[in-house]
Amino acid sequence: MPVASRKIAVLGSTGSIGCSTLDVVTAADPQLQVIGLSAHSRVEEVLAQARRCPHLRWLVITDRTRAAEVAASSLPAGCQLLAGPEGLEELASASEVEVVVAAIVGAAGLRSSWRALECGKTLALANKETLVVAGPLVMQLAAERGATILPVDSEHSAIFQALHCGRRQDVARLVLTASGGPFRNYTQEQLENVTVAEALAHPTWDMGPKITIDSATMMNKALEIIEARWLFDMEPERIEVVVHPQSVVHSMVEYVDGSVVAQLSPPDMRLPIQYALTYPERWPGPAERMDFRQPARWEFEPPDRERFPALDVGYEVAQRGGTAGAVVNAANEAAVAAFLAGEIKFTEIVPACRAVLEQHNFEPRPTLETLLELDRWAREEVTRWTFA
Ligand code: NAD
Ligand code: MG
Repeated sequence: MPVASRKIAVLGSTGSIGCSTLDVVTAADPQLQVIGLSAHSRVEEVLAQARRCPHLRWLVITDRTRAAEVAASSLPAGCQLLAGPEGLEELASASEVEVVVAAIVGAAGLRSSWRALECGKTLALANKETLVVAGPLVMQLAAERGATILPVDSEHSAIFQALHCGRRQDVARLVLTASGGPFRNYTQEQLENVTVAEALAHPTWDMGPKITIDSATMMNKALEIIEARWLFDMEPERIEVVVHPQSVVHSMVEYVDGSVVAQLSPPDMRLPIQYALTYPERWPGPAERMDFRQPARWEFEPPDRERFPALDVGYEVAQRGGTAGAVVNAANEAAVAAFLAGEIKFTEIVPACRAVLEQHNFEPRPTLETLLELDRWAREEVTRWTFA
């Protein structure tokens, strides 16, 4: 391990990715040091995390009401409390912070990712919505400011690793693997009747509720097609999706000679998180390992784009770019929230996204402000659609 330590801010530390990040960092202390944490409203949890982070300087609570309830005496010595979404931007731009882990869920994570890139920092990006909403602008900003984006999403981490095996001009296509979610083999009729509890039970990954529902509709894979399109500057026609229920092969790169390079490991997010934090090095860590002494079978099958229409939406958005990503992302966030609240059926989530996408005034080269306005508009449209 190197002698110099890396100083890290974990945005969204109480979530699934946030907790896994703290596992990785604790195991690598003092080479990796958390100096900033953020949570939205789970004050008790983030204070408990703060007490376990000996190098902590800043704690952000984005829900102002909850932040106001925190007594100064409950903070560890030397740790400052920041309140509201502005606190995220202050933390992301603090000069001591070298790596920002973007682990907030949804478009709520965009501004802090943006701020980290503006300051030329390394962004370990789990928040795929940052690229779905504003991919071209985000990539341009990173290039202009000399910032680095390292993928945390397991598929994109796998592709990033496999891309190290050849020259960029020799890549034929990217192959994203998808678990297929809990309803892979459901008929259309069964899909109509799935409950919230069924949709929240993912077969291979333990994740936050929003991405778990996205995995069940396959909107997660749609968002990942868009994420890959911008992150790797790859035409959507050269991004393929294959269903692989075991979630061991995390994705693949096919080169022009027909060679396919894959990255494998048990489904454990601590590995792609750690790789983003130690890159370009590899360190031993807490992630689970493959056990080839046990018999195993890995399956691959093409996705069913009729039962899972989200994939078509993903390809269309990746193709059109512009304002399409911001609109579909916001519509999906609102529709997933409506499904979780029992207001719409599982099979209405993707049609709601498609309806809002088709209604919006498409712009090919929007500003960040336009995208954020459309984000608000799309959420309202879904609410109107839901109660129509
Ligand atoms: P989660 O719901 O478990 O955690 C979300 C975190 O964001 C929490 O810390 C919460 O406090 C914070 N947050 C929520 N709303 C907020 C707001 N309005 N403002 C500020 N903070 C807010 O989510 P997760 O499963 O850890 O996913 C986080 C991100 O990582 C998502 O973009 C997801 O797509 C991506 N991702 C997750 C996984 C996974 O295995 N969980 C895998 C790949 C990518
Ligand atoms: Mg993923």
